[in-house]
Amino acid sequence: MASSNYNVIQEGGVPIKAWTRGVPLEDEARQQLINMSKLPFIHKWISVMPDVHLGKGATVGSVVPTVGAIVPAAVGVDIGCGMIAARTSLVASDLPDDLAPLRSAIEKAVPHGRTVGPRDKGAWANPPTRAVEGWSTLAEGFRRIVEKHPKLARSNNLNHLGTLGTGNHFVEVCLDEEQRVWFMLHSGSRGVGNAIGTHFIELAKQDMRRWMINLPDQDLAYLPEGSEHFADYVHAVEWAQQFARTNRAIMMEHVVQAARKVIAKPFEVATEAVNCHHNYVNREHHYGKDVLVTRKGAVSARQGEMGIIPGSMGAKSFIVRGLGHAESFHSCSHGAGRVMSRTEAKRRISLEDHRKATAHVECRKDADVVDESPAAYKPIDAVMAAQSDLVEIVHTLRQVVCVKG
Ligand code: 5GP
Ligand code: MN
Ligand code: MN
Repeated sequence: MASSNYNVIQEGGVPIKAWTRGVPLEDEARQQLINMSKLPFIHKWISVMPDVHLGKGATVGSVVPTVGAIVPAAVGVDIGCGMIAARTSLVASDLPDDLAPLRSAIEKAVPHGRTVGPRDKGAWANPPTRAVEGWSTLAEGFRRIVEKHPKLARSNNLNHLGTLGTGNHFVEVCLDEEQRVWFMLHSGSRGVGNAIGTHFIELAKQDMRRWMINLPDQDLAYLPEGSEHFADYVHAVEWAQQFARTNRAIMMEHVVQAARKVIAKPFEVATEAVNCHHNYVNREHHYGKDVLVTRKGAVSARQGEMGIIPGSMGAKSFIVRGLGHAESFHSCSHGAGRVMSRTEAKRRISLEDHRKATAHVECRKDADVVDESPAAYKPIDAVMAAQSDLVEIVHTLRQVVCVKG
């Protein structure tokens, strides 16, 4: 194995170790990383994954270990966003020839899509979720957060538990290299996580103004440990991450139930699904220190740990096993990463391109999904090659059904 598979950027801050050999790293993302690297509380260096691209608040594909402070915008508003995947006992030939009914069954079982006007397509009309395990614990936890931060009460979005969200969030039915059937989905903490993230980002900005701290980028506003909002944020973010993990588990159950109605053959689902965050903060120990590791568009890849790296709605995805690379703070990429913004994708990718790229998939083929088309993302094989020292591939998945939010 090569001793180092990354490039080093250092421009006045801590080093930036970028696993970007053979994949693009845009100038704007590079500048965003350099700004971040100048913060005084980063432990050792920043690691950058091959799916890196410009992000709101902080660069997607970044791993930022901090000591004594936290940057809420670096975690972002999509707190706890991540993936869950589970293998079934089915094989390709057990699936019906026409996959459209399977897709509609999943679409019915999992509320998804945009919140438009008075009717929220992305929420339950009558949430079945209150009955699920974990609901009352989550509701009680939220009540305590709201006690101290009453503003958050306005987001009554606990009803979003068990719902997918919009755009980039998806449910897929996939086949692995042995033609075995998997279910996989991508979602986070929905409206309630968004409200928590937004609220604490604003509090951090207020603190910066109060203490007259000038930052190259407002989104680097931080909460120092011991200050008024630090502990509340850490607590709220952990709660939102739990909400997100539970959200994915509930949807997985509903997907399985939906599939049982459509697929004639009875089947089993592996009990240990892989369920991993890719936008989150976690207490970890690295190079002799207890640190807060912020992974924004990155997945934990400790030695032997399982993770999920999706490609795009027309490309392969991977179930991976971590190699525990210390210098990456035990991390890997969270996907392929965008090569173009949504606006640019809408302009450059035609409906025909999209239909060709997703010809093998039972999925949406309308103009509203073109910004999610495979060409909007980096080539996943190049991304995997760039991180071959971070993870090993355990399964290669190819989708046959894709439901988009
Ligand atoms: P993000 O969380 O940054 O929105 O997306 C994570 C990653 O998921 C993207 O970088 C992309 O590689 C991948 N992705 C986006 N849409 C789809 C999809 O419909 N199916 C699959 N398999 N992967 C997707
Ligand atoms: Mn998300
Ligand atoms: Mn995500």
